[in-house]
Amino acid sequence: MTKHEKIQRQTRAGTDLGGMFPRAFADEFVTIVHGDGPWVWDADENRYLDAISGNQNVNIGHGREEVAKAAKEQLERLEYTSSMLFANEPAMEYTEKIAEFTPDGFEKTWLVSSGSEANESAIKMARQYHYERGNQGKYKVISRRRSYHGNTAGAMAVSGFPARKTKMEPLFANFPKAPSATPYRCERCDADGGHACGVECANAVERLIQDEGPETVSAFITEPVTGAANAGAYPHDGYFERIREICDEYDVLFIVDEVMAGFGRTGENFAIEHWNVTPDIITGAKGMSGGYSPIGGTMPHRRIAEVFEGVEDGFQHGHTFCFNPASAAIGTAVLEYMDDHDLVDNARKVGAHLHDRCEEFYEYDFVGDVRGKGLMIGVEFVGDRETKEPLPETGSEFQSLLFEAGLDNGIVTYPGGGHVDGQYGDHVLITPPLTIDDELADEVANRMHATFADVGSALG
Ligand code: PLP
Repeated sequence: MTKHEKIQRQTRAGTDLGGMFPRAFADEFVTIVHGDGPWVWDADENRYLDAISGNQNVNIGHGREEVAKAAKEQLERLEYTSSMLFANEPAMEYTEKIAEFTPDGFEKTWLVSSGSEANESAIKMARQYHYERGNQGKYKVISRRRSYHGNTAGAMAVSGFPARKTKMEPLFANFPKAPSATPYRCERCDADGGHACGVECANAVERLIQDEGPETVSAFITEPVTGAANAGAYPHDGYFERIREICDEYDVLFIVDEVMAGFGRTGENFAIEHWNVTPDIITGAKGMSGGYSPIGGTMPHRRIAEVFEGVEDGFQHGHTFCFNPASAAIGTAVLEYMDDHDLVDNARKVGAHLHDRCEEFYEYDFVGDVRGKGLMIGVEFVGDRETKEPLPETGSEFQSLLFEAGLDNGIVTYPGGGHVDGQYGDHVLITPPLTIDDELADEVANRMHATFADVGSALG
């Protein structure tokens, strides 16, 4: 038995043994064994264009020697020290580097190990912020439908992504959900036949705060550009500006989840910077470490951080792997790579070109909407373009079909979505590394064309 077959057999066995192994879209698990730049190779040396950057995190591309060198040096010097007891130099250096990326007023980062943890930390930070200011009753966190903030219990509670939570309900807490504010399927546009409903969708958040009781609402959390739950969608103009006003009026913290969109993916350091709005807390992960180590971070604005400075034991939170020195050294090397290669600018420029190419996908009947910013592009599929009726419900069959067609055409894709309550349908995220040039963007578009053509034939 080859090594590849052995791994596959073990993997299948894991699946058969009660599903305690991540689901694969492909019939057979493909084992990825090495990568270089935007390319990855499987155990049979088939090469694929990684059009999803690992999982929207390998933003600087695979196999960067600079990062491997930084990891080796730090591991040899000090792999770990407890952040509850000691400070460590790599973590300090990394948080300073992060502060060069964050908007004015954001100087500190609470370092964790994933996006879910970053959002958990933000929710708890908001809660303690109010507590310290004498508002102990503020604990609810409002979010949007069609949102994803992570898979841990708290992050799941604020996610508006039924496909990822139905089997977990009732959750420990299931907080109120505001409209998704998706222009393509805007509940408000549909209701009154109008457009430019950004402010109206934001006002729906205000009504929720009023209904819940402002004295109980701690925070509003949202992705500026949505990822897994609503590929590449973002609200109409005016939405985030109005949300800022509402949050100020009701003493509700405005948390932006930049786990996927942050650190350059959309062509700005942080996606919220496409609008003229300053949030209270930013969360990040994925691109923050380029996938080279599990890292996330919660970044409070100075006015939030200041409240914790007067608290004797600080933020009542922490995990063993918080502020991990080895991860921090890796994170610094990744952000330096981004600076050295102007990757945020590149994401904006090449993203514009790739977006133009993706507009060509309307030639396929099942493509309903192409949207996104920078190198975070989403394509939503429909059964009927006129009525926007989703594709027929097939469980994950359509997603598997698309993923496998992608592999056949030498490209890794990220299909997603869900049909819970007939709310919405399938989509695909196109999120290549920020290092690609126009030529590689064309390669992404061409391989997606070939993939969609195959999917079209299969749909009949
Ligand atoms: N928030 C957003 C916007 C995400 O896209 C994700 C993951 O896809 C998460 C949070 C959760 O991050 P993680 O998978 O690192 O826990």
